[in-house]
Amino acid sequence: MSAFNEERVLSVHHWTDRLFTFKTTREQSLRFSNGHFTMIGLRINGKPLLRAYSIVSANYEEHLEFLSIKVPEGPLTSRLQHIKEGDMIIVGRKPTGTLLIDYLLPGKRLFLLSTGTGLAPFMSIVRDPATYEKFEQIVLVHGVRQKDELAYHDLLVEHLPAHEFLGDMVTSQLRYYPTVTREAYRNMGRVTDLIQTGKMFEELGLPPLDHAHDRVMICGSPAMLRDLKHMLEHQGFAEGNTSTPGDFVIERAFAEQ
Ligand SMILES: Cc1cc2nc3c(=O)[nH]c(=O)nc-3n(C[C@H](O)[C@H](O)[C@H](O)COP(=O)(O)OP(=O)(O)OC[C@H]3O[C@@H](n4cnc5c(N)ncnc54)[C@H](O)[C@@H]3O)c2cc1C
Repeated sequence: MSAFNEERVLSVHHWTDRLFTFKTTREQSLRFSNGHFTMIGLRINGKPLLRAYSIVSANYEEHLEFLSIKVPEGPLTSRLQHIKEGDMIIVGRKPTGTLLIDYLLPGKRLFLLSTGTGLAPFMSIVRDPATYEKFEQIVLVHGVRQKDELAYHDLLVEHLPAHEFLGDMVTSQLRYYPTVTREAYRNMGRVTDLIQTGKMFEELGLPPLDHAHDRVMICGSPAMLRDLKHMLEHQGFAEGNTSTPGDFVIERAFAEQ
């Protein structure tokens, strides 16, 4: 059996000239956990050109959804950004990754800290009923440069709280904290600074991080991961992985060249 499925693009939405989302069909046999990433891509001159992508859609949904950067000279995204409804993409059959609630020890609060496309895996995690069963409160933090890069903002503040099955859990347990660095917005600053200075906790009216009962997932730039991992370890948090659950888990939103 091939390592890939061919999926048809169902819709494409461009958030900005740097960011877009698309939905595809889903081969029913594809299994994944919420928070996983898989390899996706295009056939170029008959050969697959693939990159890692987090799956935005929840694992019980009929379609797949991805959130993508547009890198002007990027081998994949310089092409992928032009896909249209009806085009075909390749989707790897072996989703994997460390951002799974199973890789966290039991706790009370779950912090999902993201920048840019690092939001993607958390979109499936906040739509998973198991997340709300395992944790009393979920705080989703998304840092971007400009406010129009706050992908899924309306889904998070309007549609999910009204969702037929998830609405009550989302309304009572999910806090969403979008923050912007390069233009005026209600929350401003880098995620790392907002946590280190305590500003985010003050604004949310929540106590600061405590490794006794807080658990953290991080998905962002390599620099953001490095800073937050250092900060958490300094505060006594232990990193988890696919074989040993911990107080926090991390995944790169992209690799530096
Ligand atoms: C575990 C994992 C999960 C990923 N999930 C996603 C995802 O859900 N959505 C997504 O758009 N990308 C994701 N990426 C990055 C993705 O694999 C590709 O790098 C991206 O699609 C660009 O591909 P490219 O061939 O156009 O350029 P590449 O040659 O792959 O990248 C060129 C350069 O562009 C920059 N860059 C690449 N991706 C990003 C990004 N997402 N945000 C900011 N800068 C970037 C980096 O500086 C990189 O060195 C993920 C990467 C990893 C390792």
